[in-house]
Amino acid sequence: MIAPQHHGIVVIGAGIAGASIAHEIISRGYAVCVVESESGPGTACSSHPYAIAHPHITRGSATLLQLTRIAFELALARWGDQWLHRGALHPIKNGIEFNREAIALQLNKLGLRPEIALPVSAEEASQLAGVARAGVWFANAGMLSLEKTTQQLLQPCAQLTQINQVKIDALVREGNRWLLTDAAKNIILSADKVIVAAGLPSKKILSSIQIKLPLKPVRGQLSFFRVKPTNDWAARLPRAIICGDGYCIPANRLENGDMRWIVGSSFDENETDNHPRSESDRFNQEQAAGLLNYAEGDQSELMPDGQFVGIRCVAGDRLPIIGALPQRPGIFVATALGSRGILWSALAAKLIADQVLAGDFALLARLGFTSALAAALAPDRFLAGATPPALGALASNSNPILPPSPRAK
Ligand SMILES: Cc1cc2nc3c(=O)[nH]c(=O)nc-3n(C[C@H](O)[C@H](O)[C@H](O)COP(=O)(O)OP(=O)(O)OC[C@H]3O[C@@H](n4cnc5c(N)ncnc54)[C@H](O)[C@@H]3O)c2cc1C
Repeated sequence: MIAPQHHGIVVIGAGIAGASIAHEIISRGYAVCVVESESGPGTACSSHPYAIAHPHITRGSATLLQLTRIAFELALARWGDQWLHRGALHPIKNGIEFNREAIALQLNKLGLRPEIALPVSAEEASQLAGVARAGVWFANAGMLSLEKTTQQLLQPCAQLTQINQVKIDALVREGNRWLLTDAAKNIILSADKVIVAAGLPSKKILSSIQIKLPLKPVRGQLSFFRVKPTNDWAARLPRAIICGDGYCIPANRLENGDMRWIVGSSFDENETDNHPRSESDRFNQEQAAGLLNYAEGDQSELMPDGQFVGIRCVAGDRLPIIGALPQRPGIFVATALGSRGILWSALAAKLIADQVLAGDFALLARLGFTSALAAALAPDRFLAGATPPALGALASNSNPILPPSPRAK
């Protein structure tokens, strides 16, 4: 019998998480094998063509806000030169008076420099984003196609072995290496270190080594609306990304003169059906009206003309799960990216590469990443007997001046 291929490092899953981590390891001079159950990279949730990235400033624990700031800086450094749209407006809550100094103070407390997040009046927002709503302007926020980015990260090179259409079912410890087996218990590969970045199926793979993570699916639908140039919406469509409760990207003109406007997204917990639904389009029409503060607009004039549907993977506490599993030496996890695939994969790439390759965490430390933040992400926060993560000391609710951020966490 031929011995299975052995690799120093294997990544399970070629989504944005697995691809970012593999790319980081390769860029540090190491070889990596990526094994993917589908035909190639970026086919599952990371087939998303219109993902946005910005730091989060509202709703959620201080831990989450600190982490999104750090992750945004990393994502900007990694992909900022590839953003497809640059600049996002986060309007303040309706009915709250715009107070530039108070918001600036709050942003400063979150460690957000003005070039990252700047308070803007309604007039300034109108010039920057085409929407006259006071809020916070993220000058360096942007949008990426996760599908293209994932594929680019896994461009063939000498240090990369890619194995597609192979579904890993279980991990088995043998001596000081890990065996990766399929559903028929065939040994597919062996490895010294395994990084599980398979989205929701990470749950099943890790259960084979008695690690139970509270992962659940959350279906999401983005709607592509067609807008007639003569109707009242057309003059209001934004020129920049707008985020808050939901998000939308700048509208573009189609060949026949109609406008195409992408708005999202629904947040359907525990659902895995990835067919488009008209009720999700209706939900997105409402989000569209909320984002533009145009409650009186006739939502039927936003005509559904395409959708993107994906199944997110979310953890019980809505933070991603990124880190080593000390109870299972050589196993690392990067999953539960929720609706922040860009941010969390940028962070996972640095953190997991440092852990796998025994790096010095210098870059992360410079950005303010602490051991308490690492504990808040670590998979063993969910495991019986593990030290509880240091969330309590860091958690607090954000100041209510700023509007809520999307529910999709
Ligand atoms: C509607 C919607 C809107 C969103 N908006 C945004 C946004 O604006 N900004 C943002 O940053 N993020 C957004 N996201 C989230 C983002 O798409 C995800 O967080 C991200 O794609 C998850 O990446 P992943 O690599 O963890 O998982 P996946 O992309 O699911 O990758 C996991 C990979 O593992 C493979 N795999 C699974 N099981 C196995 C196995 N047993 N063996 C081998 N391979 C396996 C899968 O085939 C897949 O390729 C959105 C998601 C949705 C659904």
